[in-house]
Amino acid sequence: MLGGSRKPMTNFYKLMLGKSNKYARVAFEGGFAGADFGIKVDLKSDFELTKKSFVSKHRVQYENRQKDKNLNKDSDRSAAVVSKALGQLWTISFGAQKDDVLIAPDGDGNYRIGFITTPYFYIPGEILPHRRNVEWEDRVFPSKSMPQDVYSAATGFTGTICDLTKYHQSIVAMLDGVEINLPESSRVPRVGEIPGVLEGKVFKDREELRLAGVHRPPISGISYISNGPAESIVVSGGYKDDEDFGDRIIYTGKGGQDSPGGKQVSDQELTRGNRALVYSQERGKPIRVIRGWEGNREFSPKNGYRYDGVFQVVRHWYEPSKDGPLVIRFELLKNQNALSSSSLIDGEPPTGQDLPGRKEVTTFKMERESKVRDWVKQIHADKCQFCGVTLITRTGTFSEGAHIQGLGRPHYGSDVHENMLCLCPNCHALFDRGALYIASDGKTLVSTITGKKTDIFLHERHELDLKAIAHHRLHVAGIREATRKSTS
Ligand SMILES: [Zn+2]
Repeated sequence: MLGGSRKPMTNFYKLMLGKSNKYARVAFEGGFAGADFGIKVDLKSDFELTKKSFVSKHRVQYENRQKDKNLNKDSDRSAAVVSKALGQLWTISFGAQKDDVLIAPDGDGNYRIGFITTPYFYIPGEILPHRRNVEWEDRVFPSKSMPQDVYSAATGFTGTICDLTKYHQSIVAMLDGVEINLPESSRVPRVGEIPGVLEGKVFKDREELRLAGVHRPPISGISYISNGPAESIVVSGGYKDDEDFGDRIIYTGKGGQDSPGGKQVSDQELTRGNRALVYSQERGKPIRVIRGWEGNREFSPKNGYRYDGVFQVVRHWYEPSKDGPLVIRFELLKNQNALSSSSLIDGEPPTGQDLPGRKEVTTFKMERESKVRDWVKQIHADKCQFCGVTLITRTGTFSEGAHIQGLGRPHYGSDVHENMLCLCPNCHALFDRGALYIASDGKTLVSTITGKKTDIFLHERHELDLKAIAHHRLHVAGIREATRKSTS
């Protein structure tokens, strides 16, 4: 590639899980990656070493051990081979960073993609004892459908790990579903309606859905664009917490299960498909909904998969699953007049309504809340309790009254001053989206983005409801209590 091609922040590696991928399945199911190389010591303390110093530190020990093991004959491995093995061990343990992408063959002619989620750790006595935890995607990429350059590089290299970062554009395209051997309809991500696919159309199986471009991944329930919106979801009963009411769906996010449809063993995170659904919510993007035969009987097709039109995510929140760990729940409502993204881009610039209808509901809601809201705003003299800013408009100072625990579904907070903050619109938006939360002391503001802590501005006559703060922290920000000692 000619100049100007910057290295992406994420690195991509092809990794073999054991000789001939024999541990691939175990690693996919166990959510890890690792290596052995016959080194039976915890390498944690080497995390700061460069590859070069790591190799020289361990080479002597490695060679001695090889000699002991192979007193018999011609098995002395050359210095170059040893260096190469140690270099690879370093890359798996320390070179690859959190959030880097692993591409691993499954031994059946397919590849799986995973994201590194933890630093190095060592499990003595186990297979592949030098470990990283990895969130393996459930998508499967047949090697034949991989972009040619990635395929050649991945298959041409026989070592344990190799860096494929220079093919990152092809890999990202592959992750986005741009697979070369498929018809265009199933390659191009598309938000909104698919031209020619009418609501109610039934598809025989996931493969038909995929070829039509209605839902591109073969297994995963959420189709999304990397760092962008979600395209479509399949509602098919994979999560026991899903609820279907026809034009309203409560959809459970992805991740944290010990196996697809299995037990929830860890908290779901706002990454990948879950993040994409929030992205769509915040930007009002339509999402195609497909119902599968395994879903709610009243609303699902008897066989196959039915395209049920576009919905919008109207809210999301965190809650403990039936098994304990947090799941993210998304509420989707059927969108009656959605535009497909293609008509937005290709057609004329959209025109808004000249006189948008004023909603009666909003007016009444404002009436009802105004006393509490005015009191809170007045007592703080319109100064934001988070950042201390007082906005001044041409009519005077301005602030917003922000509920800590939202009113109505799904939070059911109270409209009382203890449940309200005086905030500037910026802090209000960040708080409602869980980018800011208040710690359990009721005084410290924490950013979920930077981790930065600041004191909030309090007023002695305006006490805050710690229960409402705890509710917001758990259900909106997805943060558990910091230190809950496990007592039985
Ligand atoms: Zn503010």
